[in-house]
Formats: sequence, C-alpha cells, structure tokens
Amino acid sequence: MVMEDWVMKLKAWAGKWPEQAVPYFVSAWGLNRGFASRAAMLYLACWAAGLNPRVTSGFRDPKKQAAMRAAWDRGDRAGLIVRPADPSKSKHCSTSITGAPDALAIDMQCKDNELAARIGKALGLRAGLYFTTPDPGHFDAG
Ligand SMILES: [Zn+2]
Repeated sequence: MVMEDWVMKLKAWAGKWPEQAVPYFVSAWGLNRGFASRAAMLYLACWAAGLNPRVTSGFRDPKKQAAMRAAWDRGDRAGLIVRPADPSKSKHCSTSITGAPDALAIDMQCKDNELAARIGKALGLRAGLYFTTPDPGHFDAG
C-alpha cells in the first residue's frame, strides 16, 4: 500500500473529527486554526496507530521561550530535550497580528516517535526527528 493510499483512507475514516477538534487545539494549545486541523489529524492518526500521543506543548510565549533558552545555556536543562529555538524563528512562538497565540508547531510525544515522525511527514508536516539536531515529538507547518 502506498503512503497516499493510507492517508486518503485515514482522512475518510477521520471524517469531520479533525475540524471538530480545532476549537480544542486552538484554545488549549494556542494553535493557528489551519494548523490545528492538521495537528488534530496527526493526533488521531497516532492514536489509531496505538502510539498513545501526548501533547506537551503548543504556543509558547516568546519571553518564556527566551528564558528557557537562557536556562539551557546556563546548564539548567530540566524538562528540555533540545536547546529551545530562537523565539523570533520558533514556530511555537507565532502570534497573530493582534498578538494572540497562533502557533504553527506542536510537541506530541508518542510511544514510538520514529513511527509518529513518518506519519507526520506523510500528512505533510515537518517532523523534528528529521532536523539536523533531532527534536523527537516536534511537528510544525514547515
Ligand atoms: Zn517543538
């Protein structure tokens, strides 16, 4: 079975669920509406694959991100897997024109982050696992 085939079947099976989940991903995780629908599809696909997806981060306040980066640099790395990205470049820190959270990235840890990355890529998302400095569980709009 080619990738596109299972993605189409997945989307048919998912029906309206990803769209219905958008308000949750927007309000609970500060995601951009368009990206929220894609993140919801990824969540559902990982759940269906038995990967027990767990969302750990969506929008991050640029000031908090800068503080996390500074903490990493001074060796305080509790709870961090990789050095947080520059807030001006991180898709976790995107805001709307009014300054509201509008993240284009989500961190979703799965029982198998390798398989989750393959699923995310097939769904058109950029998977952090494939970054030069791998960031397992990170997915963004690319
Ligand atoms: Zn991330």
